Amino acid sequence: MNRLNISRREWENWRGQIHARVTTLNGLAQAWQRPLAAPDSLRFVLKSYPLAVTPYYLSLIDPDDEADPLARQCLPDAREVSLAHAGLADPLDEDGRMPVPNLIHRYSDRVLAMVTRSCAVYCRHCNRKRFWKMRQEAGLQSRLAAMVRYVQNAPQVREVILSGGDPLMHDDDRLEAVLAAFKSVPHVEVLRIGTRTPVVLPMRITKDLCRMLRRYRPLWLNTQFNHPAEITKDAARACAMLLEAGIPVSNQSVLLQGVNDSPDVMRRLLHGLQKIAVRPYYLFHCEPVRGCLHLRTSVAAGLALMEELRRDCSGLALPQYVADLPGEAGKVPLLCLSETLKNDLQKHQDFFDNLK
Ligand code: SF4
Repeated sequence: MNRLNISRREWENWRGQIHARVTTLNGLAQAWQRPLAAPDSLRFVLKSYPLAVTPYYLSLIDPDDEADPLARQCLPDAREVSLAHAGLADPLDEDGRMPVPNLIHRYSDRVLAMVTRSCAVYCRHCNRKRFWKMRQEAGLQSRLAAMVRYVQNAPQVREVILSGGDPLMHDDDRLEAVLAAFKSVPHVEVLRIGTRTPVVLPMRITKDLCRMLRRYRPLWLNTQFNHPAEITKDAARACAMLLEAGIPVSNQSVLLQGVNDSPDVMRRLLHGLQKIAVRPYYLFHCEPVRGCLHLRTSVAAGLALMEELRRDCSGLALPQYVADLPGEAGKVPLLCLSETLKNDLQKHQDFFDNLK
């Protein structure tokens, strides 16, 4: 499907996809060849939280389905602004933990470097929505130099995570300059990239990119599939290319109401990831971010979901359900045993006690 009239050549090229992104309500109405419902309230949302979606990701959405789980992740919703008073702009207090601009140091052995503010798609559940309206900062070179200097003087840091925004919005040369700069620090042992491009812009994973990334191993890549419909042939191919280049790919989903909060959907997602050799790593409880509250579930619902999944999925397909908390507490596993599980454990314990 190509309702945006972009050529096949543009479609297959990641820059063509970026160039043809839908960023306005008119553009969306044009792509779907129909007027949008309640455009005025959506226009109001866009004043705070802009819209950007690649033609590729848009093509996976069913415009006739008002509850489409991919649409919920990328298209504006009036509740982003109507519930905004209740959320926090920066619930993890990341801004308070930047020893130099754009470098977050929360845990002693690793730092997170925000190397861009751009993303291919603006995910409505993003916990860094506060940056969307800010202008892209110029001068990556000088910001990078300050970040690298900080890491050089912090010998306890053994891992650097490139994040943003999405680091793969940089072209290969710029990305390589960033990787090389951190790799040059003798005590940095591991590099990691957080990117959603395999999911929303799989064309970004090219042979040239993989050849370049290969040179910076051990390099780990974390992505974010949230729904089985995102595991397309293109996405699977992108992940396979990374894996063939020796880059392990792990997945960090966010638990989102109306997207993946049912056992059936989550089971299909986890099994689908296992089939394409992407390791389900974390399932994040959605943070109380301003503009995302309508997508949150309760922790109780998340725990009930995990309990169902534990019955149906092998350990290899099970992510760890965590809440990211401010400060050093970090990612706290959410574990709670239901009465059934407690009884099962007790029976197990009794069995061993009887053997004594
Ligand atoms: S790709 Fe990541 S940083 Fe960018 S909008 Fe989505 S969740 Fe936020």
